[in-house]
Amino acid sequence: MVDSGSVGAATAVSGSVLDGRGPKAKGSEVDALKRRLHRHLRHSLGKGPVGSTTLDWYMALALSTRDLMVETWMDSSHRAYANDAKRVYYLSMEFLVGRSLTASLLATGSLDLARQTLTEMGLDFDAVCDQEPEAALGNGGLGRLAACLMESMATLGIPARGYGIYYDYGMFSQYIDAGQQVEMPERWLRYGNVWAFNRPEVLTPVRFYGRTEDGLDLRGRRVRRWLDGEEVLAEAHDLLVPGHGCWTVNAIRLWSAQASRAFDLRRFNQGDYINAVAEQSQSESLSHVLYPDDSTGMGKALRLKQEYFFVAASLADIVRRFRTAHDDFTKFPQKVAIQLNDTHPALAVPELMRLLMDEHGLAWDEAWSICHGTFSYTNHTLLPEALETWPVDLIGSMLPRHMEIIYAINHQFLEGVRKSAPKPDDACVARLSMIDEGGERRVRMAHLAFVGSHRVNGVAALHTDLMRGGIFADLHRTFPDRIVNKTNGITPRRWLQGANRPLSALITRHIGDRWVANLDELRGLVPLAEDAAFREEFRAVKRLNKEALGRYVDARLGVELDPDTLFDVQVKRIHEYKRQLLNVLHVITLYNRIRAGRAEDQPPRTVLLAGKAAPGYYMAKLIIRLIHDVARVINADPLVAGRLRLVFVPDYNVSVAEHIMPAADLSEQISTAGTEASGTGNMKLALNGALTIGTRDGANVEIGDEVGEENIFFFGLSAERANAMRTRGGHDPWQYYTGDPDLHMVLDMIGQGAFSPDEPDRYRPIVDSLTRHGDYYLLLADYADYVACQERVGRAYQDADTWSRMAILNVARIGRFSSDVTVADYAADIWHVPVQTEPGRTG
Ligand SMILES: *Cc1c(COP(=O)(O)O)cnc(C)c1O
Repeated sequence: MVDSGSVGAATAVSGSVLDGRGPKAKGSEVDALKRRLHRHLRHSLGKGPVGSTTLDWYMALALSTRDLMVETWMDSSHRAYANDAKRVYYLSMEFLVGRSLTASLLATGSLDLARQTLTEMGLDFDAVCDQEPEAALGNGGLGRLAACLMESMATLGIPARGYGIYYDYGMFSQYIDAGQQVEMPERWLRYGNVWAFNRPEVLTPVRFYGRTEDGLDLRGRRVRRWLDGEEVLAEAHDLLVPGHGCWTVNAIRLWSAQASRAFDLRRFNQGDYINAVAEQSQSESLSHVLYPDDSTGMGKALRLKQEYFFVAASLADIVRRFRTAHDDFTKFPQKVAIQLNDTHPALAVPELMRLLMDEHGLAWDEAWSICHGTFSYTNHTLLPEALETWPVDLIGSMLPRHMEIIYAINHQFLEGVRKSAPKPDDACVARLSMIDEGGERRVRMAHLAFVGSHRVNGVAALHTDLMRGGIFADLHRTFPDRIVNKTNGITPRRWLQGANRPLSALITRHIGDRWVANLDELRGLVPLAEDAAFREEFRAVKRLNKEALGRYVDARLGVELDPDTLFDVQVKRIHEYKRQLLNVLHVITLYNRIRAGRAEDQPPRTVLLAGKAAPGYYMAKLIIRLIHDVARVINADPLVAGRLRLVFVPDYNVSVAEHIMPAADLSEQISTAGTEASGTGNMKLALNGALTIGTRDGANVEIGDEVGEENIFFFGLSAERANAMRTRGGHDPWQYYTGDPDLHMVLDMIGQGAFSPDEPDRYRPIVDSLTRHGDYYLLLADYADYVACQERVGRAYQDADTWSRMAILNVARIGRFSSDVTVADYAADIWHVPVQTEPGRTG
C-alpha cells in the first residue's frame, strides 16, 4: 500500500521518476486511462458512473491494469513455447501474495498515472486500493518466500510457473476480543478475483483410494494398475505475476476441487439426490481451507489429500506441456526443473515415477534418473515438530500405488547404502530409511524429498550448516554434494519501491533508480551516510513514515502513537521459538526501571507487536493475551506516560506489514539461536532503515556480515552453545530466576497476577514453562544479555546522527538479500536456466 502521508513528499520529490517512465503523466495519458476506466465500469461491471462504489472503481482500475499485463503474459508463454525453453515449476502449498494492484501498477509503470487520474476524477486513490481483498494463501515466511521468488523469476525473465491450491478460505483474519485472539474465516473471493483467470475447461482428474493390480499395457508389457477409488477434478486458476517493468509476466496456477461427473452420475443414479449433492460438495471441500498451522505438523488426512491433489494436478499439467513438444522423456530433466517448497509436495516424487512407469511404460531405472534430474527440494525448518511424517497405513489406503513406489524407492536406496563403504550399521540404516519404524510406522517426507532430488537447499548459511550436521547428517554423509545453501531474499519492488514511497523517492533522487532492478546499487548510499544533510532527509522520511503508521493504527485501533519515540517492532507469527515472550519480559523490565527511576538514559519507546497464533496453539494464544494485559496496565500508568507504550496490531498480513516496515526504528529478530531457518522479516525491516537487535540465528548472521558488526545489535547464545545447553542439561532456569533481581521481579509479577488481577493465575503456565519445565527456548539464559543489549540500543538511539548513520548503512548494504539474487543463484546452481539481468533487452 502507498500510504497517504507519503503522497506529498513522494510526488513533490520525484514520484514518477520511480516508475522509470518519465515525469508527471501527460494529459492525453490521463484522458486515455479515464476512458479505459469508464469502459470497464460500463462493459465489465455493468455500471454507470452514477451509483458506482469505491469497490467498482477498484475493479475498473484493476481490470485496466490487468489489460496491460495480458499481452506480455501471452508473449512470455509464446516465447517459451517457441524456444522450447527450460521451464521452472515451483510447487508450493502456500503463496502469500498479498494485494496485487499497487504491485501491478508499479510493474507496468502506471502507479503515478493512476493516482493522478483517480484524483482528478475526485476519487480517493488510497481508498480505492484499499478495496482489494488480501490474497493470504499462506501462513507466513514460507508462503511469502514463494511469492517473492515468483516475482523475481518474472523479473529475471525465467519461464516459470508456480503451482498451488486456490483456497476459498486463506489465512484467517485475527480479531482481538478482550485481549484474546479470535479467528474469523476470510472469504477473499467474495467479489471474484481480478488477478486470476479461471479455466473451467482445464480439468484434471485426481484419484484417491482404490486398489492396485498387475495388468498388461497396450503393447502387452506388464504394468501396475491403480483402479477404482474416487476421482476429484482439479480446476485451474491462473494468477498473473508481472516482473519489474512488465517485460515478463508469469502465472501461478492454483487448483480448486470440483466433483467429477462420473462420481456424480453413479451416486445420482441411485436416486438419492440430496445426499448425492451433499457428497459432491464434500469432495469439493478439498480446496476449501488453508491449514493455519505454521511450523507445526497437523497430521490431518484432509491435509494429505490436499497435498496429493495439487501435486497430481500439477504434474499432469507439466507432463502434458512437455509432451506437446517431445515424443519421449529423454530430455525431460533438460526441459523441466521442479522445485519442491518444503516437503508438502514431496509426493511429486512417487507421482512422477508412477506417471513415467505406469502411464508411459518407462523402466524403473530410466524413470528414477529422470525424477532425480528434475526435482530439487527446499528445507525450511529443523524443528522436529515441523518435519512431516504420515502413517504408512494412511498413505497405503489413500494412495496405494504411491505407497508401493515409496517402498520400492526406499528398498533401492537402502540396498545401495548397504553396499557402500564404509558399511553402515543397522542403526544408521534405520535412521536413513524413509520409514520410521519406531511405533506406528510412518513415512518421513523429508527423506523422500531428499533422496528424490538432485539438490537440497537450506535457506540461510547457518541453517544449511545445521542441516548437514543435524537431522540430515546421515543423508549428507551418503550424498555429500547434495545439500547447498540458497539464502532467502525479498523483492525490493514490493518491500521498498511499493511499501516505502518516501524512502524510494529519497534514494532515487540521490543515486538514480537502478536499485529497483539491481538492489546492490544501494551501495551508492554508503558515502551519503557521512553527509549530514542526507542524514537529515533520511530522518525526515522515517518521521513521515512513523506519522503515517500512527494514523493507520489510530484509525484501526483508536490508539495514538508518538512519532518522537523509538518504534521497536516485532512482527511475525507468534511462536515460542520466535520468543515474543522474551520481548515482553524486556518491556516489563523497562517498565519497572522507569518507575524506579533507573532508566533515565533511555529514550521513550513504543513497542509494537503483531502476529497470528495457530488456532490450536495454546501457549502462543496465551502470549497474545499476556501482551494485551501488559499493554493495558502499562499504557494506563501515568508514571510511565510518554516513556513507554505497548501496542498489539491485530491481523498481521502482507498489507499490514507494508504499513509497519517503513516506520520501524528497531527490528526484533530474537529467536533462540538455531531455530529460525532464515527469516525474511529481518530483511524487510533492514531494507526500510530499521536497525536489528537479534540473535546469531538464521539470516541475521549474514545480515551482520553485510552491514557490519558495528551496525547491528547481536546478543545471546550461539546456536552451538544453545544446543549444547539443551542437550547436555547445562541449563538451570531456576538459577537465573533466583539470581537476577530484575528477572525475578518480572516473573513474579506475571505469575502472581500483576497484569491479570481478575485472574491472578492466568499466566502461571507461562511462568512455569520457564522456571519449572526446562525453559526449552532458553529465554532465561538470554534474558540478561538481551536487556543489556536493549540498553545499548536505547543509548545509541539518543544520538540521532549515529543512529541514522547506522540505519543508512543498513539500507546501503542489504542489497544481496534481494530475491533477484536468490533466484539467480537457484537458476545457476540448481535449475540450470539462463537469467536476464537487463530486463527487456533480449527476447
Ligand atoms: C515477511 C512476512 C513473514 C515472515 O516474517 P519472519 O519475521 O521472517 O518470520 C510473515 N508474515 C508476513 C505477512 C510477512 O510479510
